[in-house]
Amino acid sequence: MLKNYTLKQCSELLQSKHISASELAQEYLHSIEQNNAAINGYITLNHEQTMAEAKAADELIAQGSSNLLTGVPIAYKDIFCQQGWRSACSSKMLDSFVAPYTATVVQNLRNAGMVTLGRTNMDEFAMGSTTESSFYGVTLNPWQNQHVPGGSSGGSAAVVAARLAPVALGSDTGGSIRQPASHCGITGLKPTYGVVSRYGMVAYASSFDQAGPMAQTAEDCALLLNVMASFDERDSTSIERQSEDYTRDLNQPLNGLRVGIPKEFFGEGLTDDVHAAINNVIDLLKKQGAVITEVSLPHTELSIPAYYVLASAEASTNLSRYDGVRYGHRAEDFNNLDEMYSNTRAEGFGNEVKRRIMIGSYVLSHGYYDAYYLKAQKLRRLVANDFQNALNQCDVILSPVAPTSAPVLGSHDQDPVQMYLSDIYTVSLNLAGLPGMSIPAGFDSKGLPIGVQLIGNYFAESRLLGIAHQIQQHSDWHTKTPFAL
Ligand code: GLN
Repeated sequence: MLKNYTLKQCSELLQSKHISASELAQEYLHSIEQNNAAINGYITLNHEQTMAEAKAADELIAQGSSNLLTGVPIAYKDIFCQQGWRSACSSKMLDSFVAPYTATVVQNLRNAGMVTLGRTNMDEFAMGSTTESSFYGVTLNPWQNQHVPGGSSGGSAAVVAARLAPVALGSDTGGSIRQPASHCGITGLKPTYGVVSRYGMVAYASSFDQAGPMAQTAEDCALLLNVMASFDERDSTSIERQSEDYTRDLNQPLNGLRVGIPKEFFGEGLTDDVHAAINNVIDLLKKQGAVITEVSLPHTELSIPAYYVLASAEASTNLSRYDGVRYGHRAEDFNNLDEMYSNTRAEGFGNEVKRRIMIGSYVLSHGYYDAYYLKAQKLRRLVANDFQNALNQCDVILSPVAPTSAPVLGSHDQDPVQMYLSDIYTVSLNLAGLPGMSIPAGFDSKGLPIGVQLIGNYFAESRLLGIAHQIQQHSDWHTKTPFAL
């Protein structure tokens, strides 16, 4: 029997002792056993470990030293190092890698007593928008299994949508929390760059990567972010600031809220269904007293090339550490050291990852650095400036998350650039380091979910979560499930 619980509901059941953490974990593991094969959302499970964590949570509850998250189950994207668990980033390269330490965000949630259900599928090294590049096979969209769940955090989005976990963690370098959340009909938040620690999260493009919560509701995202966010001296870009309560704006009304609609986000490629979903949310906001204004983000078109140059450059550098010496896979056949390196990398990395390494090495090479890398850095500044100008005229920006609903499996096989272009509405936030959310906003003509994006200024997470919560108080899109429960 699938459990249609939010984090909040799990927490209430646990605190009121209607259910124990062990019983709850057992029920989820049972549902996973029955249903995961149909979507391939989880790629690693460890019943013994899950039950040991649940037992420890029960002890905390019995001692009266529990908090809201104690005993609540959660799923982790395979990108987070987690001591004792295979942490493979869905790559053959790390298939044999069992992490010797735990990522800070995961540790924070472990310290609060959350119970690990398992590790979820993703695009290899988080490079992709469909979860098709995983070494462990594609994850299927629980709404319609001939469609992808989006990516790269497709496994996390799918297990939350399929109710095989109340909440999950994802990571977002160019949209990987927001876009799969949109394609699977759930809620996801990418925090301001630096709010959550990157320590122990396998690096893709370090100046973009941020972890974030994925859940049914904005309220659950706020409860998770409260515990995830912390200053971490082991991450040099972690921001030292006073901790805040991300639930504090949940009940703030929308009356007078200035919502900016970026006109460049409504051009060619946006489907009518997605446009209609945005309009529905605009209507809802107006009814609640929000004021809608048009804003401009003139460098939108250039954000894709800038992002793919910079993210690939950083990826090529970050992935040089996989050399067969220190981590994971090592080729068996080689005659000398150079061959050991090249055979290891040829065997260990998939095509999309190799493509990024080649692009990245090219744009960083002598003679091309100024033409590509440096130029892209300048564009990055212009994109960030665009957002500051727009956010001077409004409190929050409302936009699509992706131009279409979830594509059919294999749509981008022959044309990776087509896949890159679908990131048009998400990558600019990462270029600027701004926070963004994806929340459910209806369905397309085929019944596939569509999300809308809320973009705020730096450190506006609490406000974004509040707006998302108010939208969810006045709509029921986020309560819909892919199958009758
Ligand atoms: N689709 C984008 C990419 O492939 C974003 C991925 C991500 O956010 N991890 O780079």
